[in-house]
Amino acid sequence: QCEDEARGLSMALTRVHGKPHQIEFPDSPPGADLGEIAGAATELQSAFSNLLANALRYTPAGGRVVVRWQAHADGSATFSVQDAGPGIDATHLSRLTERFYRVDRSRSRDTGGTGLGLAIVKHVLQRHNARLEVRSTVGSGSTFSVIFPAQRLRATALPAPAET
Ligand code: ATP
Ligand code: MG
Repeated sequence: QCEDEARGLSMALTRVHGKPHQIEFPDSPPGADLGEIAGAATELQSAFSNLLANALRYTPAGGRVVVRWQAHADGSATFSVQDAGPGIDATHLSRLTERFYRVDRSRSRDTGGTGLGLAIVKHVLQRHNARLEVRSTVGSGSTFSVIFPAQRLRATALPAPAET
């Protein structure tokens, strides 16, 4: 059901962004068991939609965006969004999830955004015992992956949202 949601979400976001992208959803390998992801569905949806929105925003029209769900032998599961955007230089990677951090201020002015999306993603994932991994090559694109641990290590009871 996660896959169907990701698919629906991506279609909705594509409509919002209005840019034609080639969005692909390769099927998970047969027999792959993603297990259940406990947690707050709306929070996870906002995390996934932030990653998808970035991929669509930073990939030029016509570019390829690939959304994947993968189950691994150790019981962990990955949701990933691969884009054909500009890529992110390694010096920026550790700061991406800081609030208001934007890689290229002058260029990001045309693309809109406030620099909060990935801070939200990080916060939501922490609450779900999941982590974010970013792989990127300048000039060819980025892959943002959300890694959920094996079932027994997944968050069961979600802590109350932190006071802000
Ligand atoms: P918001 O998400 O609040 O609308 P934003 O997209 O600028 O604004 P983040 O999602 O937190 O903020 O991303 C922070 C910065 O990281 C972006 O400004 C951009 O420079 C860089 N970035 C994020 N995702 C990508 C991507 N897929 N490709 C290239 N750069 C990215
Ligand atoms: Mg964003």
